[in-house]
Amino acid sequence: MISITSIQDLRRQIAKERLNSRSIGFVPTMGALHKGHISLIKEAKKHNHICIASIFVNPLQFNNVEDFNKYPIQNEKDIQLLEQAGCDYLFLPPVSEFYPSKPKLSIDIGPLDRILEGTHRPGHFSGVAIVVSKLFHVVMPDRAYFGQKDLQQVAVINQLVNELNFSIEIITCPIVREESGLAMSSRNMRLSAAGKAVAANLFLCLEFLEKALKNGIGTPVQPIKKMGLDFLNQFEGIRVEYLEIVQADTLETITDLKPGSNVAVCVAAYVEEVRLIDNLVIIL
Ligand code: AMP
Repeated sequence: MISITSIQDLRRQIAKERLNSRSIGFVPTMGALHKGHISLIKEAKKHNHICIASIFVNPLQFNNVEDFNKYPIQNEKDIQLLEQAGCDYLFLPPVSEFYPSKPKLSIDIGPLDRILEGTHRPGHFSGVAIVVSKLFHVVMPDRAYFGQKDLQQVAVINQLVNELNFSIEIITCPIVREESGLAMSSRNMRLSAAGKAVAANLFLCLEFLEKALKNGIGTPVQPIKKMGLDFLNQFEGIRVEYLEIVQADTLETITDLKPGSNVAVCVAAYVEEVRLIDNLVIIL
């Protein structure tokens, strides 16, 4: 794997690959890699001649400075993991390279920014849209791979690609989980063993709601949402920020459970002061 820190060098390498008609799969990350990230790399390798990963902890998408400062960094281990997974290039720009000055541009995502994560993390998706747009302009991949773990982020990226005519296919990959069901996340490193055990209840709650939703077809959503909240609130170590049952594609709130519809249960909660998100998409 070749590690590259400058935009110019990366562009030069990519131009060489393009001269040889090589297709490019791209996996943007913020590092502290785990099996979830690696599943994206493997998928990119399967369907493209070369895989480019990026590691960049994007200051623009953190609405909380403390969260940014505590974000785990482990570049050496990440490089090893990427090499083992067969990644061809790693783009690892310093902040000064990627943002020589603080961008004055901002991107208004529209309605998607006023629900779920958007409501609770003001400016987050604008920051994501800026960094992903910049990365897409530099890498110009054929395909880019994102995890369903960040379901709303996928919706934002799809909107970005459609509305700004990026000629890039967006591939969504399934959530990789620990044996306990806990969705893998770089933030899990900040949890104690006890915290991880408590956090696994987020997934148990999603599974519990899946059954309840399937049994509740044709009924209102509200009582089922309350069952989910009651489930999580029994655990002292979990502080729920939101739990919503939404239409899976648009992420808009639904009131009734229509047969054949695709719904997503989305949850955000704090465990040991670490903010965790998870979701489950269910076909009714
Ligand atoms: P991050 O480093 O958190 O920005 O994540 C980089 C990419 O990996 C995003 O597209 C995430 O959705 C994806 N990702 C993170 N965790 C998982 C997981 N547990 N399973 C699958 N993909 C994931």
